[in-house]
Amino acid sequence: MHKGVDIGLIGTAPGIRQIAAALADAANARVLGLGDLDNALQALEALSCDLLLVEATDPALPAYAQLRAVAPDSAWIALDRVDAIGRVPAWMALGAAACLALDRLDAELLQRSIAQVLAGRATTAALNAQRDDLLVLFERTPLPMWVFDTVTLRFLAVNDAAIRAYGYRHEEFQRLSLYDLRDPEEHAALELALSQPLPVQASASLVRHRAADGRPILVEISAQELRYGGRPARLEMARDVTAQRQAIRSIEASERRFRDLFEQSLGLICTHDMDGLLLSVNPAAANALGYRVAELVGRSMLGIIPETMQAHFHTYLKRIARNEADSGLFYVQHRDGEQRIWEYNNRVLRDEDGQPFVMGHSLDITEHRLYEHRLREQQAELEAVNDGSPMGLFRASLGGAWNYANRAFERMAGLRSDEARGHDWLRAVHPDDRARVTADWQAAVQHRQRFQSRLRFRHDSNHTVWVAMQAAPLVVEGEITGYAGSIEDISARHLAEEQLRRNEQRLRTITDALPAMIAYVDAAQRYQFANVAYEQAYAGARSLVGRHARQVLGEDTYLRRQPHIEQALHGVRVTFEDEDEREDGSYVCLELTYIPQWDEERRQVLGVHVMAQDITRQKVEEKRWIQAAERDSLTGLSNRAGFLVRLERALARSRDQRSLLVVLYLDIDRFKQINDSHGHAVGDEVLRIFAQRLGTVLRPSDVIARLGGDEFTVIIEGMRRSQYASAAAAKIVAAMRKPFLLEVQGLSLSVSTSVGVALAQNEAQLSVAQLLERADGALYEAKSAGRDGYRVRAGDNAEMQKKPTSG
Ligand code: GH3
Ligand code: MG
Repeated sequence: MHKGVDIGLIGTAPGIRQIAAALADAANARVLGLGDLDNALQALEALSCDLLLVEATDPALPAYAQLRAVAPDSAWIALDRVDAIGRVPAWMALGAAACLALDRLDAELLQRSIAQVLAGRATTAALNAQRDDLLVLFERTPLPMWVFDTVTLRFLAVNDAAIRAYGYRHEEFQRLSLYDLRDPEEHAALELALSQPLPVQASASLVRHRAADGRPILVEISAQELRYGGRPARLEMARDVTAQRQAIRSIEASERRFRDLFEQSLGLICTHDMDGLLLSVNPAAANALGYRVAELVGRSMLGIIPETMQAHFHTYLKRIARNEADSGLFYVQHRDGEQRIWEYNNRVLRDEDGQPFVMGHSLDITEHRLYEHRLREQQAELEAVNDGSPMGLFRASLGGAWNYANRAFERMAGLRSDEARGHDWLRAVHPDDRARVTADWQAAVQHRQRFQSRLRFRHDSNHTVWVAMQAAPLVVEGEITGYAGSIEDISARHLAEEQLRRNEQRLRTITDALPAMIAYVDAAQRYQFANVAYEQAYAGARSLVGRHARQVLGEDTYLRRQPHIEQALHGVRVTFEDEDEREDGSYVCLELTYIPQWDEERRQVLGVHVMAQDITRQKVEEKRWIQAAERDSLTGLSNRAGFLVRLERALARSRDQRSLLVVLYLDIDRFKQINDSHGHAVGDEVLRIFAQRLGTVLRPSDVIARLGGDEFTVIIEGMRRSQYASAAAAKIVAAMRKPFLLEVQGLSLSVSTSVGVALAQNEAQLSVAQLLERADGALYEAKSAGRDGYRVRAGDNAEMQKKPTSG
């Protein structure tokens, strides 16, 4: 019996308890009762036994299968009934090391069996340990290794490194064969190689494999024949040489590049010894100096350095010997004498013998230098221009941050350009404008749009500058690269504008308060301004700015005024009265004054000021006065003044049109007697009836007037024949013979009249006075001839008519 062996007893059958008793005698074994199978499985989680004696009832119970998992290091013996011999293979399959009959068990058999099982377990453990060591070695080797069947070429074992290198999982490898690592076109070669036995001193062979992802792997394979699992097999070790090969290739390439660089580089490369003797020169460097390579190699560099610079070359040689590296500018001389500037970067290297030499690399920066110089000059010039500009100028990045501002800006903003960088320029903006300007600037930058703003810069609390600022995206080769902006000091303009605005406001207030209608039309006859009175009169208090005069005034009014407007637009100041009889019968009269507005040079009329005053009332009054002056108050006929005015016009018309003009001169016969016998009032009444009766006899277009006393006159125009004048006179004489009925006084009076007829036609020199004289003469004749009749007189060149009427 082994010493210190722990035996676990599983089961509750009476036979199990007997075993416990039997084993208890064996002093070197510890026996633990673990109860029934379920209990035991739990207990075995915590403790371990060297051997388990298990009451075996039914191999189909899953609990038996769990024994192996719970206690992998414990051997176990199944204790079944003696007649259950058929279940032995099942117990063995479940991992039982032996099977004993529980109902026939004797102590000796039990102890022997225990001893055997424990001995077997020790051997297996030792073998397992050995195999594990080997496996670990195989599996942990950093080089990919595998064993494959030489007949089927299937993999029998594969290590971790192979799995990592080829990218297949363990179980995938087990389904693969060596074919799968090679390209199909190489399968024939593979078979040929495997058909031949491995040479004794096999050297590694180079093979191309493919990884799981298709990536090529170049490997060096060393192989060894062996038997594995009783079959002929081969162990192969694969060294991945892909990276190594690539490294060689890249070194080759790099070497080639260096050679090319030296030969073909535009960079100027040379080597010289520590005394300045040229050891090698690349063609570019030789070319740059106007030489062939062979002409320079072996010569001192002093030959290509201008004399004035040679002292510097000596100090360079000392410096590079001391510091092993040096950089700076060489002034070298072209074969044709031109001086060039090389920017060099040299260092000391050593050849195989350890001899130091200088490897130099230079760039000819002559042109660049010139360009840079010119650029700097230009920049300085531009800066001077920018700084000299009275306009503030600035540049900003795409994000809106300022990176340049000129002097003028500094003056306007009271901020140095370095203080204005980024968004700090906003500090100069007046606090009242700052939020607005900031928002506008950000919006413009965000949308890549123009920026335009009127704002104030504030130096301090009592110095404010008004500026107009604008910026536009700066487009370079189709790309917006930032913003360029300008700032104009508009303080003076702003002040002037403010003043103008205030003045204008003041004027508007004044003009609005005036009763006169005031307006301004431009050269296109469109209203630019109208005061309240004007707007009320023409637009019902709506604004008429921008509207055309024809539209505002209405067709009729416009046509009346148009000639005056045009006169004013030609530079003439006009005043005129504009009378309008409206459809409703009302009468309106305006006095209008048009004053042309010249431009500053007085070359062009820009528009017309309109001033209109309603003079209807004065006009009506005046008419009344004129009427009163020309009217006879007793009869309502024209008086002498009115008659003379009308006669004047009629005579002018007759002269113009060469038409016949007839003037009748009437005087009542023996009127004095009526006054004397009936009184003055009756006389007046007779005069009124006489006037009325004249009106009914004559046409409305004839002019009837009372000259005074019992004298009346008639003007007849447009008569075609002079005979008609006699007919008219006869008609009047006849009409007055009818009795005059005075209803108020109850009188019927008999009245008669005498008429003098004057005719005028084609008498250019005839005056009003002469014409009247002629009529008066005719009347005198009529009176002299006995009254109650008429006489006719014409000019000397006309046919005279004299025909008295009979009673
Ligand atoms: P004859 O036939 O020659 O004309 O005689 P007569 O009496 O009409 O004389 P004449 O024409 O010379 O006299 C006109 C008179 O008319 C003189 C004057 O007393 C009178 N008379 C003048 N004006 C007025 C007036 O306004 N009213 C009235 N009732 N009589 C007037
Ligand atoms: Mg009379």
